[in-house]
Amino acid sequence: MITLGIECTAHTLGIGIVEDGKIVSNIHDIYRPINEGILPRKAADHHSEVFARVLSENLKKANLKMDEIDLVAFSQGPGIGAPLAVGISGAKYLAARFNKKIIGVNHPYAHIKITEHLTGLKNALVLYVSGGNTQILVNRPKNHHFYHVIGETLDIGIGNLFDTFGRAIGLEYAHGSVLEQLAKNGKYVELPYTVKGMNLVFSGLLTHAEQFAKNGKGKEDLAYSLMETSFAMTCEATERALFLTKKRTVIVCGGVAQNKRLQQMLRTMCEEDNVQFGVAADEFNRDNGAMIAYAGEILYKKFGARPVDYWKPYTNYRIDRMKEVFGKPH
Ligand code: MG
Repeated sequence: MITLGIECTAHTLGIGIVEDGKIVSNIHDIYRPINEGILPRKAADHHSEVFARVLSENLKKANLKMDEIDLVAFSQGPGIGAPLAVGISGAKYLAARFNKKIIGVNHPYAHIKITEHLTGLKNALVLYVSGGNTQILVNRPKNHHFYHVIGETLDIGIGNLFDTFGRAIGLEYAHGSVLEQLAKNGKYVELPYTVKGMNLVFSGLLTHAEQFAKNGKGKEDLAYSLMETSFAMTCEATERALFLTKKRTVIVCGGVAQNKRLQQMLRTMCEEDNVQFGVAADEFNRDNGAMIAYAGEILYKKFGARPVDYWKPYTNYRIDRMKEVFGKPH
């Protein structure tokens, strides 16, 4: 079975092809906002401009023609409405034009499945960290495809914390990876630390860091301290979830999972608690089409496809809503 996956929830238009669980191509193009956050209209324009080229490059890399694809999988949400609509329109057009099966994929579910595949670790406690999300997830005992959210941010996503702070201190391209470099030479400054059971709150931390920056505290020290504090909070909540669920494995996934300091903290925590730890290569933690194809194939095998008209963008598609999407009659 050959599946084409389309990722389009935010700044990345990613397309990937998976053949019976094997990744055969994974090519993307990223919209990079300069001196501003993601503007939905600009992200959508970017995705429509690059869509045809990214698709052709993938087919060329995989040495395939559209006719040979069996299933078109697309990222259904959560995400920003305008870019999401471009990716979904592309997916629906391809399915209708070439008479292919089509399936919508929950974005965090795809991050989890590709990480399980690449690390070989199944049924783990999942820490999902990205721009818009920060969640601690565990699969349901009776149906491993569906997840419970057992802890999460009560305000902004951890990646959003870094991006917003980056813009506040005048970074041209305010991205977590730029902040990570800046943090390398920083020293610790005390910032507010807020964990509520297994939930997290980041906005007070952001306000304090921004205030310190306005008052002339060093950007490097603040970048370092912001990461140390938010990662320590995240580890504390994850460790609490680990003891509650008695899981023996932890995986981390999503854009912020690329951060090496976060990986190091989680690895240390898991070693001390004598549990396994897994993280995928950066290529699969940033948004990408291969993970959508990979997860789409799993979902198709479990739940079957739905007609083209069944699918629409689902901007606030929480992973714990998958049962509604796949449980509905069609
Ligand atoms: Mg993502």
